[in-house]
Amino acid sequence: MKRRSLLKAASAGAGAMAIGPLVTHAEVTPDGGVPDKADVVVVGGGTAGTIAAIQAARAGAKTVLIERGSQLGGTTTVGGVAFPGLFHAWGKQVIAGIGWDLVRTSVELDGGKLPDFTKPTGHHWKLQVLINPYLYAALAEEACLKAGVTICYYEFPLSVKADNDGWMVECAGPGTRRMLACKQLIDCTGGADVVGMLKLPRLREKETQPGSMLFKVGDSFHPGRERLHAVYVHGADSSTSVTRTRATLTGRQTMLKKIRKGLSRRRLVQMQAEASFRESHRINGQTVITHKDYVSGRLFADAICYAYYPVDLHTRSGVRPKQLARGVVPTIPLSALIPKNSRNIMVAGRSVSSDRLANSGLRVQAPCMAMGQAAGAAAALAAQRKTTPLKLPLEDIRSLLTKHGAIVPKT
Ligand SMILES: Cc1cc2nc3c(=O)[nH]c(=O)nc-3n(C[C@H](O)[C@H](O)[C@H](O)COP(=O)(O)OP(=O)(O)OC[C@H]3O[C@@H](n4cnc5c(N)ncnc54)[C@H](O)[C@@H]3O)c2cc1C
Repeated sequence: MKRRSLLKAASAGAGAMAIGPLVTHAEVTPDGGVPDKADVVVVGGGTAGTIAAIQAARAGAKTVLIERGSQLGGTTTVGGVAFPGLFHAWGKQVIAGIGWDLVRTSVELDGGKLPDFTKPTGHHWKLQVLINPYLYAALAEEACLKAGVTICYYEFPLSVKADNDGWMVECAGPGTRRMLACKQLIDCTGGADVVGMLKLPRLREKETQPGSMLFKVGDSFHPGRERLHAVYVHGADSSTSVTRTRATLTGRQTMLKKIRKGLSRRRLVQMQAEASFRESHRINGQTVITHKDYVSGRLFADAICYAYYPVDLHTRSGVRPKQLARGVVPTIPLSALIPKNSRNIMVAGRSVSSDRLANSGLRVQAPCMAMGQAAGAAAALAAQRKTTPLKLPLEDIRSLLTKHGAIVPKT
């Protein structure tokens, strides 16, 4: 094609045609600005937070999602842990809804294949779904935008204060500083950061599980078809920018040493942008899920979703997943998402109120997504009815969740 025709075609508008093999044009889409009031504010657009925001908005709540990074998915995408699980237990599906739909859609769009979930297996990893993290992040973002969620990338809360039976959140980011009023808050930061800012009780072990830096050397990385290599980063702590920096520096520099030493003839073809974290603060909630609750599959009276994964504690000597007894499917109660002595705030994700061993199984991605959906539903209803999530009739939360495709335990 001649240069003049090329330029003409390119100026025809967004995405009209590519110049050269790689360039497409798009105009920044005009937006309605960021509101200064919302029904629900979700902090952290990771595994759980993305789903919480979509659910809250689909239930009619004006929803703002604040994410310190620049894409959705958190550990699933930025961390490179692109193999969510487990949605199935003992041959049947136990977690569905918004997270599952996104996972399934990204596999379909990527031409991938879902595992055979019909056969119960002692190898839990066979039930994990390999997804293309780039596609997942884009699809999650599309689902948020379609639902009407206002996404604020590059932002984080600087302060949070109780205000008129709701919250005033001071948000900051490069060149941005503003106040945002909301009725309900959902903390999906992975380390209960907002709960910590409010000085509500949190739990934390002296020695936490290692984080990991994920990368690949050798043949090109095939996202959605394979897993990455990992460096265990002991002492990785997601609490502050300083501790996060140390974990990422350690992970990346250890990887570099590894490449220099033994893998020097193999090319580095994939490296995640930052270290990922397995364990941090958990909330001390209205209910603390114990190891006994988890391995016995206790059916909590206020159960809002299932969880299924072995007890999976990583230590300096590695990990030996302890499978659950045949037929056991643990549940997560609403009260484990609510910090003790609090109103109008919930958490979802790996900082769910639980003891360490229970948390080692609960923290995986499918239950994080299910918790996110439950928190989003409860927050939307509570905002509409001017109450706090714990005071809502459980049946109303459950029927909203079921309407949006989630699987809710029967009690
Ligand atoms: C190496 C590794 C391997 C794992 N293996 C598996 C596996 O095989 N299968 C599985 O299902 N799970 C696995 N997990 C566990 C699982 O991935 C995580 O526990 C889960 O993704 C946590 O979800 P989350 O939503 O709680 O947190 P995240 O997904 O980490 O999301 C937190 C989000 O909050 C944002 N954020 C944090 N602080 C702030 C702030 N102050 N302001 C604004 N935004 C903020 C972050 O940028 C991030 O987007 C693994 C985890 C690790 C680290």
